[in-house]
Amino acid sequence: MRVFLDLWWYFKREKTSYIIGIIMLMIVSILSLLPPYIVGVVVDLMVENNLTVEGLTFWLIILFFVGLAAYIFRYLWRIMIFGASIRLARLLRNQLYEHFTNMSAKFYQRRKTGDLMAHATNDIRAVEQTAGAGVLTLVDSLTLGGFVIITMAVTISWELTLLSLLPLPLLAFLTNFYGSMLHKRFRVAQAAFSSLNDRVQESIAGIRVTKTFGQEKADIAAFQAESDDVVKKNLRVSRIDALFDPTITFIIGVSYFLAVYFGAGFVINEDITIGQLTSFTIYLGLLVWPMLAFGWLFNIVERGRASYGRISELLAEQAEITDEHADTTKPPSGRFDVEIHSFRYKSEDDPVLNDVRFQLKEGETLGVIGRTGSGKTTLMKLLMREEQGVNGKISLDYRSIERYTLDALRTSFGYVPQDQFLFSATIADNIAFAKPNATMQEVIDAAKLACVHEDIVQFQNGYETFVGERGVTLSGGQKQRIAIARALLVEPEILMFDDSLSAVDAKTEESILEALRMKRSERTTIISAHRLSAVKHADVILVLDQGKVVEQGTHESLMKKDGWYREVYNQQQLESIVAEGGDTGGTYG
Ligand code: ADP
Repeated sequence: MRVFLDLWWYFKREKTSYIIGIIMLMIVSILSLLPPYIVGVVVDLMVENNLTVEGLTFWLIILFFVGLAAYIFRYLWRIMIFGASIRLARLLRNQLYEHFTNMSAKFYQRRKTGDLMAHATNDIRAVEQTAGAGVLTLVDSLTLGGFVIITMAVTISWELTLLSLLPLPLLAFLTNFYGSMLHKRFRVAQAAFSSLNDRVQESIAGIRVTKTFGQEKADIAAFQAESDDVVKKNLRVSRIDALFDPTITFIIGVSYFLAVYFGAGFVINEDITIGQLTSFTIYLGLLVWPMLAFGWLFNIVERGRASYGRISELLAEQAEITDEHADTTKPPSGRFDVEIHSFRYKSEDDPVLNDVRFQLKEGETLGVIGRTGSGKTTLMKLLMREEQGVNGKISLDYRSIERYTLDALRTSFGYVPQDQFLFSATIADNIAFAKPNATMQEVIDAAKLACVHEDIVQFQNGYETFVGERGVTLSGGQKQRIAIARALLVEPEILMFDDSLSAVDAKTEESILEALRMKRSERTTIISAHRLSAVKHADVILVLDQGKVVEQGTHESLMKKDGWYREVYNQQQLESIVAEGGDTGGTYG
């Protein structure tokens, strides 16, 4: 029951809804005591031969209004209590969502997306149930159960009440017991089913490989074994399910037996009337639900508690990169002063960057060249403060980057990653992703700059073409250029291309770079690449090798040296001359 204490902050916040809801619930409980009483009175009138038409009509009218009132109050408490629990679910969902968006890449490396989705759906549903159905059951079983027992004991006979109630606690116990068994077995069956699903998905995706190696038979046998397992586990669920109803009916039957058996004796001894015995059996029927509910309550609350625990644990996890040292919310301009002595990832022993130093004025371009794994992405992440823990100093606009709020930094930076991600939406929506209020003309201009406009208008629905599984399949180059258009549209103060020109051909690369020089002459641009042609016009070029800057300068100065840069440049020039007429430039790496 501790979960009710854990959720106390929420009950306090929604106290009006809960108090009104609980009062309504109690009124309904009291109202449900009346019909059995009335039936008893009418039976006694009949037995005594005193029932008149007027008398019966009177009691029927009262029954009608009691029913009507109960109907209205039931409706109202549902709105109050379930309404509050749905609002709790929304609140938790929003908190989790906001939390997820604030967490860094590390958080996502540790946690599987599927698990996070499970927290956001199943766990929240379990907490919602506790705050709704849980509160309802607790209040209802206590009040209705209490009122009915008191009425039976006080107005009819406490001895008979005690005798007939003997089997009922067993009912609560067994519902709880079966309920938790059912839940456990159900989860096992669910897990088996989802593993079967994974297997099917994998088999279909890998069908060509399977066939090539003649492994179909083995695959089918493995599938059948797993499918049998699913059936077996589901049968275990059904077995408990099948026990449930007969057990309950049996226990209730015993209770009725006791009531009628001893009740008849009480009537013969004239301790109670026949009408009272009739009321008594109806009251007994009213007790079944609170007892069942009490058993269920423990299950609901147990699950709610576990789920709320998992959600709280997630929410308590601190983002590693915070605004702790920030003293300005003003987005910085693109002036960089960088002095990285070394940087290593927490999980690694050796640094991945050593002695990286450069200055970049606003409007200048930095080119970063190096093989895969040389540290280009790491450098970009550090410059954007997506990673921290540098031994050294990174300043933007003459201030350490830690002094800007993360929001301010995110406003200044635009980043085009190596792996493009397009949403299942139209091309126009994908381009306008970071600036949803952009006009169509702005979207088109950005697409033109990114050299993807011509491709888009070729599609049947142009900019309204759907991307993804339900729409067109785009080539790697097209995806890259759409992602570039997306970044260009927001005109960020600092634009980063992380090897994002690798899938476009040399001519397109040249046009995009030309467009960048024209449009971004006032703003800072950082380009990392394999291909030297992508950084040729940069004001500062860093050549990285295993995390160290092996050469640094402009294209002209580097060409004068007899180093790595000149050698590779000449080699790549030669390759592109050979490939002339083709549409891929020479790639290195
Ligand atoms: P590039 O962008 O030039 O391909 P990266 O910056 O991605 O290079 O990687 C540089 C080195 O850092 C590689 O050896 C890589 O394995 C390692 N590395 C990258 N990201 C992480 C990380 N999150 N944790 C630990 N090591 C990493």
